Parts: sequence; C-alpha cells; structure tokens
Amino acid sequence: MTTGYVGRFAPSPTGPLHAGSVVAALASWLDARAHGGRWLVRIEDVDGPRCPPGTDRLILAQLEALGLVPDEPPWWQSRRGAAYAVALERLLQAGLAYGCACTRAQIAAAQAATGPGRMRHGELVYPGTCRPDRGGLQGRVARAVRLCSTDPAGRPVWIDWQDRRLGAMRQNLTGTVGDFVLRRADGLWAYQLAVVVDDAEQGITDIVRGEDLADNTPRQRWLQQALGLPAPRCLHTPLVLGADGEKLSKQNGAAAAAVHDPVATLQQACAGLGLSDPALAGAGSRADLLDRAVHAWSLRWGPAAGRPSSAGGPDAG
Ligand code: GLU
Repeated sequence: MTTGYVGRFAPSPTGPLHAGSVVAALASWLDARAHGGRWLVRIEDVDGPRCPPGTDRLILAQLEALGLVPDEPPWWQSRRGAAYAVALERLLQAGLAYGCACTRAQIAAAQAATGPGRMRHGELVYPGTCRPDRGGLQGRVARAVRLCSTDPAGRPVWIDWQDRRLGAMRQNLTGTVGDFVLRRADGLWAYQLAVVVDDAEQGITDIVRGEDLADNTPRQRWLQQALGLPAPRCLHTPLVLGADGEKLSKQNGAAAAAVHDPVATLQQACAGLGLSDPALAGAGSRADLLDRAVHAWSLRWGPAAGRPSSAGGPDAG
C-alpha cells in the first residue's frame, strides 16, 4: 500500500545519534510505516562550523544498522543554498522580511532605552529597530535578514496549531518570539527557513520529532503562510531524559547510540515512546522487532487509531 504520506527524520550532524535522537528517528519511521507512507532523511548541516566532518555518514550508518533505511537518497541542506536564497528574495520582495543592521549590543541598548527587554531562551526579543515601518536601515548596512512577526497591518500574530500528541497549541508569535532571523549575520541560513523550504520541496505531509522542537512550530507555520506553503501535520514525541533529569543532547555529552545490538537499542527507543506491548520484549530479530513496533505504533497513532472501529459508526462512509 502506498499513500500520500511523506515523513522525514532531519538530524543536525553535530554529533552521532544518541538515545534521544534514536527515539525521534524511530518515531518518524514508525509513523511513516504505520501510514503506508514514505520516509526520508535530511541532513541539516546548515550550521557547518558545528558539524564535525564525517558525522553525517556516521548517522546514516547508525540508522542503517538499526534497519531505518530511507526510501530515497538523503538530502544535505549544505547543498540547498540556492533554494533558500530564492525563498528569502520572495519574502524581501513582498515586504515580509527586511535587512537588519543591529548587533547584539545595539539590540540590548535599544531594549534598555525602552524599558526591560523581553527575553526568550536567554536571547532578547528583537525590538524592531530596523523594521521598514520604523524607518528601515537608514543608511546602515544590513547584517542579517529577519521575518516580520506582525500581520501586514502591524498587529500581533497568534499562531494556533494542533499537535497529534500535545493537542491544541497556541503562541503569541509577536510577543514571545518577535521578528526572527532567516539569514544570520555570519551569512549562514537559519534553521527555520531551511526546514520550511525543504519540507515543502520534499512534499513532507507529516513531521514527527522531539518535543523540544515543538515551540519552533509557530515560527514555521508563519513562514509557511508567508511563502504560501502547506503546513505539515505534527506529532512531537516525549523527550528522553538523562539520569540527571536533563534532556539528552549532544551538548551535554550524551553517548553515541550503540548499534552493535540493534534489537536492544530499538527496544529501549520503543520504551521511550511508551510502546509497552509485551510482544516487543519477545522479538527475535531486528526485522521482527520493527514489525511488532509498527503494529504497536499503529494501534496508538495509526490512521485508524482513535476512530470508531465498527462500520456504520458516526464516521462511516
Ligand atoms: N535538525 C533539527 C535537530 O536535529 C531537527 C529539525 C526538525 O525535525 O524539524 O534538532
């Protein structure tokens, strides 16, 4: 069976897969299989300086050892600059994005002059100094490019979206994020732009990724609206926490996922996804385990999950 479903796993190759990223990879693969869809892998190496050479190949080898093989050759974002440039130009031409000349110190100073600055994840929310409706660059040289986070009338934007696991979600994009960066002052493409352009061009219908990325969704929805692109459905999976209760990440030194015993590694990832079907424990091989995991995932998140099972129910026909 093939359906219109297209899913993806999109690792940033800043280090090998660890227990947390294996969970994200497995969840996106399981969801694609449960929906009879295709599963793609995209290497998100836009931030080149943070990606040690060879890590991409290491990740692809880890996935293969786990039996998670993409249905098409992977994409590398480092080769996609021309597509991002076209999208950025469209946003600039439409007046939805603008050049910003501010340095970090100038943003802090502008905030200090108007009262306590709004902070988000340790970053100041951009006060809007270079916005076209505030007079623009006024002769200064643009360093970065930002997307307007207000509607064309300058009003705040609220983004409402539905997550398959987290339910109804809402964010005041203007107040909590502000005008965000699409191309950085160092010339690198921002994750938000790259991910939205590539999801659209690869025809991604469903995003399944870790919950730590959930609060990027409103920025991506806003960018999709600005570019006239469809918004994929989303499912954000539970995070895997380390012994210290912190999210596992490459930054806090999470160990590379061991793939010499794929059944054990996949069983652990299934547990992280709350797939507690006793049949998983008895799996004899990688393929057997993956089959059983697809079944367990389908019951919970598959196309028929949560719908009336009997023909003739209210949704029948
Ligand atoms: N590249 C991102 C990361 O590894 C994930 C992007 C996504 O799934 O949207 O954190």
